Amino acid sequence: MKLSKRVQTLTPSSTLAITGKAKALKDAGHDVIGLGAGEPDFNTPDFIIDAAEKAMKTGLTRYTPSGGILELRTAITHKMERDHQLTYQPEQIIVTTGAKHALYTLFQVLLNEGDQVIVPGPYWVSYTEQIKLADGEPVIVDGDETNNYKITPEQLESAITNKTKAVIINSPNNPTGMMYTEAELKAIGDVCLKHDLIIVSDEIYEKLTYSDQEHVSIAQLSDQLKKQTVVINGVSKSHAMTGWRIGYACGDPNLIKAMTNFASHATSNPTTISQYAALAAYQANDDEIELMKKSFKERLEVAHQLLNQLPGFNCIKPQGAFYLFPNVTEALRQTGYDNVDEFSAAILDQEKVAIIPGTGFGAPNNVRLSYATDLDQLTEAIKRIERFLINNQ
Ligand code: PLP
Repeated sequence: MKLSKRVQTLTPSSTLAITGKAKALKDAGHDVIGLGAGEPDFNTPDFIIDAAEKAMKTGLTRYTPSGGILELRTAITHKMERDHQLTYQPEQIIVTTGAKHALYTLFQVLLNEGDQVIVPGPYWVSYTEQIKLADGEPVIVDGDETNNYKITPEQLESAITNKTKAVIINSPNNPTGMMYTEAELKAIGDVCLKHDLIIVSDEIYEKLTYSDQEHVSIAQLSDQLKKQTVVINGVSKSHAMTGWRIGYACGDPNLIKAMTNFASHATSNPTTISQYAALAAYQANDDEIELMKKSFKERLEVAHQLLNQLPGFNCIKPQGAFYLFPNVTEALRQTGYDNVDEFSAAILDQEKVAIIPGTGFGAPNNVRLSYATDLDQLTEAIKRIERFLINNQ
């Protein structure tokens, strides 16, 4: 069967390839430790599950408005006010099937053929593919390791052409875990305003931060920046709700209206029961999040230190999310592997530890390890990687 050109240009996910192989090994009885996961290992808090159960038992199981129930959009406006002192009206919010579909819908309504979107690298794998699916062109601008993998305003300026429509800011970043400071965001924002660019601010990891640096939304830095920015967020990572599939976008009311119209034909609405669960999540305080965050921070401290002791591993300290992203150039040299794909595959083969090669994130010198797994497994996995490195010297 001949498939569309559109789908033929999609790059297969390197994350899925390695996690698929890890699962096959596990199913065959091997003791595999998976550090590939892009999701918290905690269960969704009970009070959220209770809210979903109540919704189901009280008949809240039908279609909702395409942009999401008004109560949830209102609760999100309160959250934005509380966390960022940003005032939005419910018409400026669309609730979507995960943050991923907020981004997908956004690119669909924003881009015409050939429009460019600047994607700072290393980047989350789906940005580039979603931009291509909307006939746009992703333009990668690599953040330098010496600048903690963040792009500078000068780099941004020199990547802008007359086709540039938007730029993505993902802070805290997947895969690096690094965060932009307020001053950096302001400087990047100035370039965006000068060139009338739309800023797509993916803040899905905003609640999971571990350094003294506070998460700042670029939208909160000025009224003009707020107007130019579409904030993307959701409950997946903050509330351990990846499977519930609830995300949202906030921004210009006309843009949100277009996205809602698009969604009405694409999905009708995000799952009703999940919307009531997310409503409970956003109406509560952040106590449960703080507990998860405490665990993540503890694991980060241990794993970061252990990882930097591995021969040929060089890992900056992430400030947020739940990933470590060491540069392994020297480890490749020492072990004789040509690239991180083969290196990661060999670690899985020999030591049954699944890590993700950086290739899919536009970072061919790095690997990504998730610390969304308990401390014992994490330390055992790093021990095994150490054995791999020693055995392959
Ligand atoms: N943005 C980034 C940077 C992510 O890492 C992810 C999930 O891995 C998403 C968005 C999508 O999250 P959701 O599960 O809400 O679709």
